[in-house]
Amino acid sequence: KTLLKLEKVRKIYKMGEVEVEALKPSSLEVYEGELLVILGPSGSGKSTLLNIMGGMDSPTEGAVWFGGEDLARASERRLTEYRRHQVGFVFQFYNLIPDLTALENVAIAAELSNTPLSPRKLLEQVGMNNKMDSFPSQLSGGEQQRVAIARAAAKNPKMLLCDEPTGSLDCETGRKILSLLLDVNRQYGTTVVIVTHNVAIRAMGRRIIRMSSGAIAEMTFNERPEPPE
Ligand code: ADP
Ligand code: ADP
Repeated sequence: KTLLKLEKVRKIYKMGEVEVEALKPSSLEVYEGELLVILGPSGSGKSTLLNIMGGMDSPTEGAVWFGGEDLARASERRLTEYRRHQVGFVFQFYNLIPDLTALENVAIAAELSNTPLSPRKLLEQVGMNNKMDSFPSQLSGGEQQRVAIARAAAKNPKMLLCDEPTGSLDCETGRKILSLLLDVNRQYGTTVVIVTHNVAIRAMGRRIIRMSSGAIAEMTFNERPEPPE
């Protein structure tokens, strides 16, 4: 079943007189419950594609179907609602609120989106039982990313969008983060889309998209995705 359908989506950034075609007309379906990996060199359009999927940016041309609705034509207000209720975000930089504890960071996300998931339970699931009352500055990078994943999952989103989620973490910690994302995917049936350079993630995805110069250059299908490790 299709969750999101991108139809000939194109993105042009205008900088004064100069136009940059960040995304050439591209079509893609994202399926419910899948784990999709997007690879490609820096500047190839990965983040642009992810931002359009997440309603953080609108395409210059084309349609983004979510249910019967074209997000490319949705109002700013409606996009905010979509981001808040349907999508969870995990970035390279964790973007936790510095003067809130781990627990408060997760709780605020749960409140904003009105979901019944327990912030404590979610932090337990990511192995942060003993650090719920720590502030972000007291946590390692790996731990902050776990909190960020718990926060994203607290929204109980349809889709989790991850932009270089292991980017600034060492290999071992990166692997743990990957397994958490895989857990969320399996446990909640959440669609997970991961943009990455990390080769370990490549093996995990069932579908892999390779971007090149603003276009989807290749799409491959993994029969047997491997868990990290
Ligand atoms: P990637 O995530 O693969 O590194 P991006 O999607 O960030 O690639 O960028 C694709 C192209 O679009 C690059 O040439 C980049 O410089 C350009 N670009 C991205 N965002 C903007 C922006 N806000 N304004 C102007 N150009 C941009
Ligand atoms: P990781 O292997 O997850 O990257 P680190 O080796 O960076 O972890 O950190 C080890 C431990 O030290 C962690 O349990 C973390 O909570 C703690 N820690 C890291 N930075 C700080 C800090 N600035 N203040 C207090 N504790 C910290």
